[in-house]
Amino acid sequence: MARYKDAVCRLCRREGMKLFLKGTKCFSDKCPIEKRNFAPGQHGKDRKAKIVGYGLQLREKQKAKRIYFTQEGQFRNYFEKAARTKGVTGEMLLQQLERRLDSVVLRMGLGISRRQARQLVRHGHITVNGRKVNIPSYQVAVGEEIAIRERSRKLPVLEQAKEFAAHQNAPNWIEIDRENLKGRVTALPKREDIQLPVNEQLIVELYSK
Ligand code: SF4
Repeated sequence: MARYKDAVCRLCRREGMKLFLKGTKCFSDKCPIEKRNFAPGQHGKDRKAKIVGYGLQLREKQKAKRIYFTQEGQFRNYFEKAARTKGVTGEMLLQQLERRLDSVVLRMGLGISRRQARQLVRHGHITVNGRKVNIPSYQVAVGEEIAIRERSRKLPVLEQAKEFAAHQNAPNWIEIDRENLKGRVTALPKREDIQLPVNEQLIVELYSK
């Protein structure tokens, strides 16, 4: 699958807001949004037109895609599945994104950024109910236990993540055992549990055309 390899801060600048893609840097004055909050590129500063209608819907979709590092096809699949699921489509869409294994690892405070959380999964450091799972898009279910593999518990990135997590709010749908680097999903996340600067209704409108 194609992956975005450019500087991720450009994605925030394109959306004109912090998407929190770089961990600690996002909370420091080194964040480019603090100094250059305009679109990247030669004419970035000149693009000041107010976005409305389709443009607004498109931007909301791009924002969500970028926050979760998903590609267009995969994102649309999430939407189609959400539309078939009982409940409010926008909320079901966000719920599926949050239930991705890389996202749950991030919420548990095992990584300081989504990229780092994804790498932990890809490199086989994560188990689900005691079995190694290296698929970042794996959908975590209620009752499943997510943990760091025994042999990976001394990874230096986990120490860094622990410090970072100490300043973050823990999600109330995952029971986290920070000492033992594990957690259990106790419920599916509701909209109020998902702190995202995204208007999911606009994404639903975009895909429903
Ligand atoms: Fe976005 Fe974080 Fe980069 Fe700031 S530091 S632009 S919030 S990714």
